[in-house]
Amino acid sequence: MAGETGPGKLPRPRPTGRPDPMASAFAHAFTAAALALAVTPGRWLPRLLLVAVVCSVLPDLDVVGFGWGVRYGDFLGHRGFSHSLVFAALTAGFVTWLCFRGGRWDGLRLRIALLLFVVTASHGLLDALTNGGLGVAFFSPFDDTRYFLPYRPVEVSPLGVGAFFTPRALPLLWTEWVWIGLPVSLLAWVLRGFVRKLEQA
Ligand SMILES: [Zn+2]
Repeated sequence: MAGETGPGKLPRPRPTGRPDPMASAFAHAFTAAALALAVTPGRWLPRLLLVAVVCSVLPDLDVVGFGWGVRYGDFLGHRGFSHSLVFAALTAGFVTWLCFRGGRWDGLRLRIALLLFVVTASHGLLDALTNGGLGVAFFSPFDDTRYFLPYRPVEVSPLGVGAFFTPRALPLLWTEWVWIGLPVSLLAWVLRGFVRKLEQA
């Protein structure tokens, strides 16, 4: 990964006036749901779907820090620790323990924990595809450098849901479908076939 940006160097606010770009919540939720369905073929597990979607958007709770004076480039700033691999691992372990107790989930728990790790970590990966803001602190707390992927084709997204019902949202949704929706659908389809084969073996 390349294109890192120095912490503390706030970008000029975009025309929306919001210095808080991200892949949209729709993109994160779509990825989570597709992967959750892929690793549990033939089962209908609404709790897993819901929890996976929540984990996929959870890292963006860091935006509440703006209101408390946390700066974008800080450890707890937007795209900081909450977007790291360590946060994803901690979240996956805790949420699996909290939400998937009981015999019903026996035999699925490791798979669920791995899924929730990937889904939570995918949030940072998708953000690193966007063309604005600071990069993602993937390796926090060990290394707080902010990273982007070498190629960033995805339009930044406003945080407000209302903004999706304006013409400005169309290019955003199009790039997200091309660069996130289609590849994730293909990946989920392949993964689903792989898991099915493993279960039948
Ligand atoms: Zn984010």
